[in-house]
Amino acid sequence: MNLVSSILPNPIEYLKGVGPQRGELLRKEINIHTFRDLLEYYPFRYVDRTKVEKIAHLSGMEDFVQIRGRIVHMEVVGEKRGKRLVATLQDETGRLELVWFQGWQWMQKSLRENVAYLVFGRLSQFNGALQMAHPEMDLLTEETSNGRQHLEPVYYTTEKLKARGLTAKAIGKLTRNLLEQMSPAEIPENIPGPVLQQFRLMPRAQAYFKIHLPATEEEAKQAQRRLKFEELFLAQIRICRLKIRRHKASHGFVFNAVGDTFNTFYNDHLPFPLTGAQKRVLKEIRKDTTTGRQMNRLLQGDVGSGKTMVALLTLLMAIDNGFQGCLMAPTEILAQQHLKGISELLKDMPVKVALLTGNVKGKARKEILTGTADGSIHILIGTHALLENEVKFHHLGMAIVDEQHRFGVAQRARLWEKNDTPPHILVMTATPIPRTLAMTVYGDLDVSVIDEMPPGRKPITTVHRTEFQRPQVMDFIKDEIRKGRQAYIVYPLIEESANMDYENLTKGYEEVKAFFPEPKYYISMVHGRQPQEQRETNMHRFVTGDTQIMVATTVIEVGVNVPNASVMVIESTERFGLSQLHQLRGRVGRGAEQSYCILMTGNKLGKDSQERVKVMVQTNNGFVISEKDMELRGPGDIEGTRQSGLLDLKLADIVQDRAMLAAARESAEKILEEDPNLELPVNKPLHDHLATQRSKSAWSKIS
Ligand code: ADP
Ligand code: MG
Repeated sequence: MNLVSSILPNPIEYLKGVGPQRGELLRKEINIHTFRDLLEYYPFRYVDRTKVEKIAHLSGMEDFVQIRGRIVHMEVVGEKRGKRLVATLQDETGRLELVWFQGWQWMQKSLRENVAYLVFGRLSQFNGALQMAHPEMDLLTEETSNGRQHLEPVYYTTEKLKARGLTAKAIGKLTRNLLEQMSPAEIPENIPGPVLQQFRLMPRAQAYFKIHLPATEEEAKQAQRRLKFEELFLAQIRICRLKIRRHKASHGFVFNAVGDTFNTFYNDHLPFPLTGAQKRVLKEIRKDTTTGRQMNRLLQGDVGSGKTMVALLTLLMAIDNGFQGCLMAPTEILAQQHLKGISELLKDMPVKVALLTGNVKGKARKEILTGTADGSIHILIGTHALLENEVKFHHLGMAIVDEQHRFGVAQRARLWEKNDTPPHILVMTATPIPRTLAMTVYGDLDVSVIDEMPPGRKPITTVHRTEFQRPQVMDFIKDEIRKGRQAYIVYPLIEESANMDYENLTKGYEEVKAFFPEPKYYISMVHGRQPQEQRETNMHRFVTGDTQIMVATTVIEVGVNVPNASVMVIESTERFGLSQLHQLRGRVGRGAEQSYCILMTGNKLGKDSQERVKVMVQTNNGFVISEKDMELRGPGDIEGTRQSGLLDLKLADIVQDRAMLAAARESAEKILEEDPNLELPVNKPLHDHLATQRSKSAWSKIS
């Protein structure tokens, strides 16, 4: 322990100027619980009040400026609501007009003529002359006479905080007070010296001071750089330690053999040769399952890249070694499709497959539970119903989660508890994330990628159409239906509660119905506000071909497989993100026929929307699209970042700072490789820091 006990963990209400009520508000409004939280409540920009300008030198091109001068004249002008206070400020070089439209009565009372002020505000032009409206007025003191010594930090605040006097300025003042009463020793370093040197990072204590009170922009930047690195580095240390701990502690089942079931299926029943990528991933999985450790692997593969076949072969490996396997899907429909597909593939094999969802009830359910518990069912497919306590496996060796981002972290973790020794875990996702990001976003998973499409796919043709061309689009759909195909028409539903979106959907449905009247055409409508049963019935009618058109919200985004559907019309494309568009497009192009994706937009498009449409028209490659998506939207939208909880990042941005992220990762790996328990003196700062952290051990159970 350090001799100087840090005051960083102190509750915020004990800070001078806070107290219980403001403390409560700070906690609720901006999540500041401790002194440390306040120090980590960073300014989002700075105002430069270090310079003082001369009035005669102002060009009018400046934005904010600061001037030192006296008020030589004050007057209220205008009538009624146009009333305002106008003051003339004079320095050695000239005069400038200051004006207040609001609160002028108060200003009039408090401003004094012929007293020196430091005036700060935004310049504007009025009747050809320069003017400053609602400037900040500070009486000139010795301390301020040459401007501030540092840049002025600007903080976010909220209406509620403001109402309690916690304006941006007041927050700044609290922070400054705290910094001034602390000695650097109370902010212990947490990064080992050699790492600081290697990356030329300033010490932690200095960084806290400089990020709030920098003398220059450059200082602010260096402080940010240090603190960003710290965030990334500490996150990587935690992740790498989890991985090491898991590798040491976890016993995994050993799959000794690739046995009869696998080989018979592979040689006699495989409907197509595997792609190179599928083979490679299977080898990676095979290797994991021989190590004696638990596998914890993420399989990324674009929509349609053939993840299901990899899953199936993986399950067969488990069976050959005397284990059961399960496959969990996020929706009932998807689970049913997996059951159908897999039963079909295994129809000549002595493997028993069953389905368990919320809809399997009564006697059927009992039978399945019994079969699962006595081991006579080899593969159990289902929804999150698989996680229920009543589901007991005889010997679960492999658990596969499809479209894993649809499940919460906690749900996935429950799979671990199905056995004393946890089963191997394979989670699959079609949301491609660049590999380095995946490692950090999904914690300590190993990552496999299917980066190759099965051969013979006809690339989907994507086109952009506007409202003007709607009749042609409808005619095109008719042509396709005449050829025996089916079509999706998808409406945006950004928020479950947005009534507007439902109105659009319903209106759209009526329009579509007018174009496609019964009995020649039948339409399914599917959205999240329907009772689940109705939704599933409608979906089912489309899957079986009873209806030719599916009008839907994004509820169909995941996994639905209707190979006969050849047209995907996306309405109000401008309202979707790129990754979502790509997911939606992946619903077509699953059969042998040429498929089309039609992006409908209004006649006028913003720049970002144009860019998204362009990317979609140009490429079918999910990785290219996800990179582009992150560029356009930032990482906040990467599936799972928020729920992963591993990255508690305030400053760093895993996309923009990915070079730094890679460096931090490398650094963390190297340190832990040489000193896994952080016992070397050089790593003491890190060791001590981690020891004081709130226990986050819950993570270690989470994939
Ligand atoms: P996803 O990765 O999106 O889950 P699927 O596993 O549903 O993709 O596969 C999409 C389609 O591609 C399925 O119809 C599947 O049978 C087919 N498929 C998978 N692998 C191959 C392959 N190696 N060669 C040809 N077709 C394949
Ligand atoms: Mg799939």
